[in-house]
Amino acid sequence: MSEPQHAYAWQMPQWQDLQRLISVERLPHALLLSGPSAIGKLRFAQALAGYLLCESPGTLAACGECRSCHFQGEGAHPDFKEICPEEGKRQIGVDQVRSLHQFSAQHAHRSGGRKIVLIHPAEAMNANTANALLKTLEEPASGTLLILVSHSSSQLLPTIRSRCLQLSFGVPRPELTEPWLRDYVGDQVTALRLLAETGGRPLAARQVFDDDGLASRERFDQGLIALVDGQSSPLQFAKEMLDADLLGVLDWWVARLLSLSRHQLAGQALTAPSWQRFKSLPEKSVITGLERALKLRASFSRGVGLNKQLILESLFLEWTQLCQNRAVA
Ligand SMILES: [Zn+2]
Repeated sequence: MSEPQHAYAWQMPQWQDLQRLISVERLPHALLLSGPSAIGKLRFAQALAGYLLCESPGTLAACGECRSCHFQGEGAHPDFKEICPEEGKRQIGVDQVRSLHQFSAQHAHRSGGRKIVLIHPAEAMNANTANALLKTLEEPASGTLLILVSHSSSQLLPTIRSRCLQLSFGVPRPELTEPWLRDYVGDQVTALRLLAETGGRPLAARQVFDDDGLASRERFDQGLIALVDGQSSPLQFAKEMLDADLLGVLDWWVARLLSLSRHQLAGQALTAPSWQRFKSLPEKSVITGLERALKLRASFSRGVGLNKQLILESLFLEWTQLCQNRAVA
């Protein structure tokens, strides 16, 4: 029997909030789990679905042994539907959402049981798709719970947001996530470094570890130092990075500028010690650079076609000029 999914330890406050609603039978017909990406919202939603479908749940999770849990473990529960972009696509199709009408019209397979629909990420619905979902939200079928997971809930239609009970998830505190990450990576120093590199988002930290991302980030830092020292050019540096994943490069760039800005404005320690030399750059320019990097990363995540080499060249050309003006190089 497969182990039932639990919410993560750092999600206990949200889990307990929901349990209170469940115990007094006040669970609404739609939930919106919102917060930054890579902090475990999807896992929370899956654990909740398993818990609500389970025939004899414990306090923290489904039993893992009943018929319902068995179906869930096989990914074949007749009363559970998961909607996310199909393979190779970035958006959820309108037909995927329309199929919900039929699903909610059916009776649950277990008498008196719930049906659950999980939609993630909810911002992957365009206006047509979102409007199709609104129909389901406006006429909720009794016994169907919709769980929407969103990394940027401000992008959702206000009419969708207002029909859901919103459960917010912030970036968890490192003392809650570090033990979990340490178990995975093997030591505390690496765990804390990974969390610092990813703005405290535990699943992003684990991904960086799996991709050997600490080594690539060191390579990027060294390349940048060589660039401002005049040992390489923006063109050359951009070329060297072409084999790297652009999202990974932008993640690194965002993380470094964020760390530099926090160092300048709030005296926080720099994530990468080699960035000490940039601490006298104008604060405003660092913030402008950060805003631009965040926009680029968001466009790239949305699938906007970007010319990788041109983007990197212009980013590093600007940085070199900024450093030259301040005689950092
Ligand atoms: Zn069970």
